Amino acid sequence: MKTGKAILFSAPSGCGKTTIIKRLMQHFDCFDFSISATSRRPRAGETHGEDYYFMTNEEFAQHVAADDFLEWEEVYEGTRYGTLKSEPERIWDNGKVIVFDVDVNGGKNLKRYFGDAALSIFVMPPSVEVLEQRLRSRGTDSEESIARRLERSERELQESGNFDVTIVNDDLDAAVAEARRVIEQFLG
Ligand code: ADP
Ligand code: 5GP
Repeated sequence: MKTGKAILFSAPSGCGKTTIIKRLMQHFDCFDFSISATSRRPRAGETHGEDYYFMTNEEFAQHVAADDFLEWEEVYEGTRYGTLKSEPERIWDNGKVIVFDVDVNGGKNLKRYFGDAALSIFVMPPSVEVLEQRLRSRGTDSEESIARRLERSERELQESGNFDVTIVNDDLDAAVAEARRVIEQFLG
């Protein structure tokens, strides 16, 4: 397998990783998104093989048993997410830079694995109140799911110091500009 570089985005759910990554993908032609596997159901507008590889719990367990994952986490009780080994291989073989959207544990594990080949970015909400508003206004999660995401975010927000860079996502344009700046510096 060829090797290359990787950009890791981690944050609690609702902080704006997906929004920022979509904007950056339009700017950086060299980027290719690492499509994670998940056992959660698709949200309206999500496409299999584009946003995620959506799987049943049984299919996910088969990939775990076959040692197909570089990393995986049960991010929420009963819902698993993971990076298939085949994703970085596919992207680096095409000469592209891998872009990851993973939870905080996944980000720490992947940074440990890729070392200096990866830039790890923590996306911080302006406040917990704004994070809650964004999760609600996204309109994709049940009250129960929002409560689970907020509960988990309390622990995750303590972890920003374990990342190379922290970007506060208050004004979206400013957050995207800051991400572009640190990524351009990293890619050289
Ligand atoms: P994540 O991928 O981290 O779970 P999303 O990108 O889905 O988060 O963002 C959560 C919600 O917040 C979405 O509805 C998105 O449109 C909104 N959002 C993201 N960034 C901002 C921002 N800077 N200002 C206002 N709303 C934002
Ligand atoms: P969502 O359900 O909002 O798409 O994602 C929930 C959380 O799972 C987010 O923090 C997202 O970054 C994380 N996630 C998505 N894919 C992966 C993955 O492959 N590995 C890990 N560890 N977390 C992931």
